[in-house]
Amino acid sequence: MAILVVGGAGYIGSHTAHALRRKGEEVIIYDNLSTGYSVLAEGFELVIGDISDSKKLAALLRRVDAVMHFAAHAYVGESVENPRKYFQNNLLGSLSLLNSVMDSRVRKFIFSSTCAVYGVPVKVPMTEDNPRLPVNPYGSSKLAFEFALEAYAKAYELRFVAFRYFNAAGADENGKIGEMHDPETHLIPAIFEAIKGKRPALQIFGDDYPTPDGTCIRDYIHVSDLAEAHVLGLDYLDSKDSVALNLGTGQGYSVKEVVSTIEKVVGLKVPSQMAPRRPGDPPSLVADPSRSEKLMNWKAKRSLEEIVSSAWKWAESRS
Ligand code: UDP
Repeated sequence: MAILVVGGAGYIGSHTAHALRRKGEEVIIYDNLSTGYSVLAEGFELVIGDISDSKKLAALLRRVDAVMHFAAHAYVGESVENPRKYFQNNLLGSLSLLNSVMDSRVRKFIFSSTCAVYGVPVKVPMTEDNPRLPVNPYGSSKLAFEFALEAYAKAYELRFVAFRYFNAAGADENGKIGEMHDPETHLIPAIFEAIKGKRPALQIFGDDYPTPDGTCIRDYIHVSDLAEAHVLGLDYLDSKDSVALNLGTGQGYSVKEVVSTIEKVVGLKVPSQMAPRRPGDPPSLVADPSRSEKLMNWKAKRSLEEIVSSAWKWAESRS
């Protein structure tokens, strides 16, 4: 099978491209390199283009059997300050891509959605049946596109899987690809920057949440586990109906627990200081991944310690 990996020069997209190739699939990466890096697409056919460039996409779509869509902006804080950027790319750009797909013969579509579509969950661990009430524009932009996918699947013959990621972290075991964001706002790379003195200290955003130690709880999932789920998602689409699936481990860790795990794994102290809450952050987001387990026979295999050690190895190789 041939797959167009849109946003394949980014973090999760590049890991999925590698997982697909390991399974023997043919991969074409499509990326505008606005936040992606050509080095993450090394060894693959890379076509530089925008998701709204329907002419460029039409030619590529003739060569593939399925599309995976990773191209998105994904910073909660930035989305609160600059929602226009988020709705422009994550909704309008994505719709344009989806319409290009509908104008081709491709009918299999895998979408990078997010647990941010749920907002503040009514029940933790969260099943896919939690109400979708996002509390930040990032989550709203992703949810709006989920609605489009649902409508298209009903009206046309589209089949999709919307994967709702929890917190992607870690790096491929081969040491060649990993997380590269500029600026680096995600927790684990931010902690590494604090350890290395690239920032004065880790700011812990809020210690007055209704959680056991007062800091936010998240479900950190290894990016290689996410990548493997995408490969299985393609098999699922061969025979089954469209579906939205949580991708998480089912186990939550607070910001303070992540800090202490990193101190243990890396053997260095994390300079940290308390800071105000970050707008748009729900207190606790933990997946109930049982639907993914049941429908795709998938389960996250890697621990928080493995996430940290692979991410640290990658960070060390780059400094
Ligand atoms: N966080 C923090 N300091 C940082 C970055 C993140 O305390 O410098 C917290 C953040 O408030 C959230 C958790 O770490 O509770 C994970 O944040 P991240 O940005 O990694 O992912 P998100 O949950 O926003 O997708």
